[in-house]
Amino acid sequence: EEAQRLQKIIAQAGLASRRGAEELIIKGRVQVNGQTVTELGTKVTANDKVQVDGAPIEGREKLVYYLLNKPRGVVTTNDDEKGRRTVLDILEDVDQRVYPVGRLDYDTTGVLLLTNDGVVANQLMHPKTKVDKTYVAKVEGIATEEKLAPLKRGVVLKGRKTAPARVSIERIEPTKRTSMVRLTIHEGRNHQVKNMLAKVGLPVQKLKREQYAFFDVTGLQPGEYRKLTSVEIKRLK
Ligand code: URA
Repeated sequence: EEAQRLQKIIAQAGLASRRGAEELIIKGRVQVNGQTVTELGTKVTANDKVQVDGAPIEGREKLVYYLLNKPRGVVTTNDDEKGRRTVLDILEDVDQRVYPVGRLDYDTTGVLLLTNDGVVANQLMHPKTKVDKTYVAKVEGIATEEKLAPLKRGVVLKGRKTAPARVSIERIEPTKRTSMVRLTIHEGRNHQVKNMLAKVGLPVQKLKREQYAFFDVTGLQPGEYRKLTSVEIKRLK
């Protein structure tokens, strides 16, 4: 069982900031297994019973919601077998154990929600919810309406047809033989956008998620994140 610093456990429970939690400890208001602890370095595991003013803290984790502009070169999974940097490494000042709502590839940038609210996360990820996700892809080749048309009807990937996508051509760079294509889907299959565009002969060179439901990355550089506002959280629920 993983040992964590006492002040972090208290902060995770939403009872105080990490600084505030340190003060609670110093003031003798925190008990571990019935004993008052005033030592800041104390480490505890899930098996230890932590109390503040005699009240147990477990089961009180504060629900938090973040919007990250995911940069390239980080994985969305928690346990990458190659030990690469993960999106959770970016949210360093977040005390709660959040997890990403869905996935973006290692080299994909853009909108990613993270939360510890399992109810909201599961609802958003459920296929029935049909959350719109808009991607802008830089593709190799000259995009034309004819080439993109199959995506509007659905293409077969791994034996299963994709739902109709909204597709438009943003820009064409004839000399470089590349194009920018905007694509909106509500499914979330593995590498779906890359596979869809490859299927119509336009392999993806760069991919950015511009929108997820009503969220975009306005004001956030890649690698930057912010808390959702209370209005945004209400809209999610
Ligand atoms: N589709 C992809 O191919 N990759 C992503 O990261 C997201 C959607």
